[in-house]
Amino acid sequence: MLLVVDDDPWTRGVVAGELRKRYEPDYQVVCADSGDDPLRLLAKFRDDRRLVSIVLARQQMSRGTGAELLARVREFHRAAKRLLLIDWGYGPAPEPIVRAIALGHIDAYVARPMTVPDERFHRVVTELLEEWARSHLPRFEVVRVVGEERSARSHEIRDLLDRNAIPFGFYPVGTERGMALLQQAGVAASARPVIFLFNGRVLVNPTNAEVAEALGMKTTPGAGLYDVAVIGAGPAGLAAAVYGASEGLSTVVLEPEAIGGQAGTSSQIRNYLGFPDGVSGADLAVRAYTQAWNFGAEYVYGNPATGLRAEGTERVVTVRGGSQVRSRAVVIATGASYRRLGIPSLDRLIGAGVSYGAAASEAKAMTDREVFVVGGANSAGQAAVHLARYAASVTGLVRGQSLAEGMSDYLVTQIASTPNIAIRHNLVVTGGGGTDCLESLTLQDRLSGTTETIPATAMFVLIGAEPHTRWLPDHIARDHWGFVVTGTDLLAGGAAPQGWPLSRPPMLLESSVPGVFAAGDVRRGSVKRVAAAVGEGSIVIRLIHDYLRGA
Ligand SMILES: Cc1cc2nc3c(=O)[nH]c(=O)nc-3n(C[C@H](O)[C@H](O)[C@H](O)COP(=O)(O)OP(=O)(O)OC[C@H]3O[C@@H](n4cnc5c(N)ncnc54)[C@H](O)[C@@H]3O)c2cc1C
Repeated sequence: MLLVVDDDPWTRGVVAGELRKRYEPDYQVVCADSGDDPLRLLAKFRDDRRLVSIVLARQQMSRGTGAELLARVREFHRAAKRLLLIDWGYGPAPEPIVRAIALGHIDAYVARPMTVPDERFHRVVTELLEEWARSHLPRFEVVRVVGEERSARSHEIRDLLDRNAIPFGFYPVGTERGMALLQQAGVAASARPVIFLFNGRVLVNPTNAEVAEALGMKTTPGAGLYDVAVIGAGPAGLAAAVYGASEGLSTVVLEPEAIGGQAGTSSQIRNYLGFPDGVSGADLAVRAYTQAWNFGAEYVYGNPATGLRAEGTERVVTVRGGSQVRSRAVVIATGASYRRLGIPSLDRLIGAGVSYGAAASEAKAMTDREVFVVGGANSAGQAAVHLARYAASVTGLVRGQSLAEGMSDYLVTQIASTPNIAIRHNLVVTGGGGTDCLESLTLQDRLSGTTETIPATAMFVLIGAEPHTRWLPDHIARDHWGFVVTGTDLLAGGAAPQGWPLSRPPMLLESSVPGVFAAGDVRRGSVKRVAAAVGEGSIVIRLIHDYLRGA
């Protein structure tokens, strides 16, 4: 069902007419005005077990705003998409809309249709419907997974399939369908996940590589010499693959988990150039993957790189499972992981009040709100100071006794002189949650052990990032935290790093081994953004051309 809420019968009629022309008979279009008590209607549809796919509400209505109504839709229909309709001339991004997006109260906004047909309006509606349909309409299941609902491996396999955009169905052990599948294949029920492929193949407790192989993906690299081996298929690796392959370099990409890296796990990336309504990380990843593939990049799935060595002019990357990639140049794009709180009820609300990483893009939406920042190091301090420019109050939640333990002096001073920042020490976040958005946090005092639950609607977690560089040999220089050191950062007092064999200094993004470059979050000093990773992944190819020409 598509529910349109608008007080004005004429504009409501235009919207409903447009929707009916395009989407009936697959979807039923229902109209209401604010006087019809749309919340009561939503409750009735829920009780009648009717599926609401999108609620479209006009911002300006006589009883409350569309944004206020949409903020409550998920109380009744947890999966419904929420589209705010605004009038032309309402302003480029006025405060209520910015705030509604930041808080996860709406999924998108669009100007109500002014011409008929209005293709821009339809594009937004269709994209929302497509997202909704992915989890609500029956689909061809390429893979069926039978496993324990709560087993970690079973969760990993579902995550792997989901992030690689492979349509699958999950049937818990013990359910009728799950047991029937096991019985058909003659497999005994156990906690280990069992995978049934569309072609009849059955895999019991497979590794990532076995799943990839069974799905027809390549899991071992070719034996020949590549121009570039890209290690990691996050935004940096994918950009390197697009530019490398499109510029005539034979390019191989190694990825053990899922295309898209950290960005692939983000439900909505809102600051990537060219996507004003945001783009899901998974969508961006699939587009980039296809783009590189179209140019001829080769992907090798399922196994991580485990080592790297130089053999003359060749660079050899060893891969778990015993294979190796030989190439003339290597791009290390293995990224980093933000340390998570590890509290599922809070991780579920990422993008709906809970944020990991820097807060710059969200700060304005925090105007007049009470905000929590978790962490006691410089990144948390900077976020607190920045957020305090907009928020009514910022409360820093810090594990240690004092900020000085982990934060630069200047930030400690700045925080002390900012009246709307308060720091609470010796505290850890142990729980919290909310129905659709963050509503509360549970904090534990590390000294007394007492816990308290407080109301909270916005929390930024900055408790460190860990680069994926343990697989690298010692002679690839890294900083104290493990990030790869590149370019001029390698020049101690202007001199090349120890063991550097060339007369020229390392190039921008080049590591302490010639021909081995680093791009994206894995690199020391990187900006930790999708656009920055993509930028570095693109630049590195130009540097590799120079390197291969003997610069
Ligand atoms: C939840 C979340 C939301 C985010 N939202 C935004 C946002 O809205 N806007 C924004 O600009 N940034 C956002 N970021 C940050 C952004 O995603 C990262 O800055 C970006 O993904 C970094 O890209 P990367 O390619 O350098 O590394 P990553 O994305 O970390 O990708 C690295 C890849 O390398 C692979 N890998 C690791 N080890 C190995 C190995 N040994 N061998 C082979 N491959 C390996 C990993 O599996 C991974 O796929 C978000 C991050 C997270 C976690």
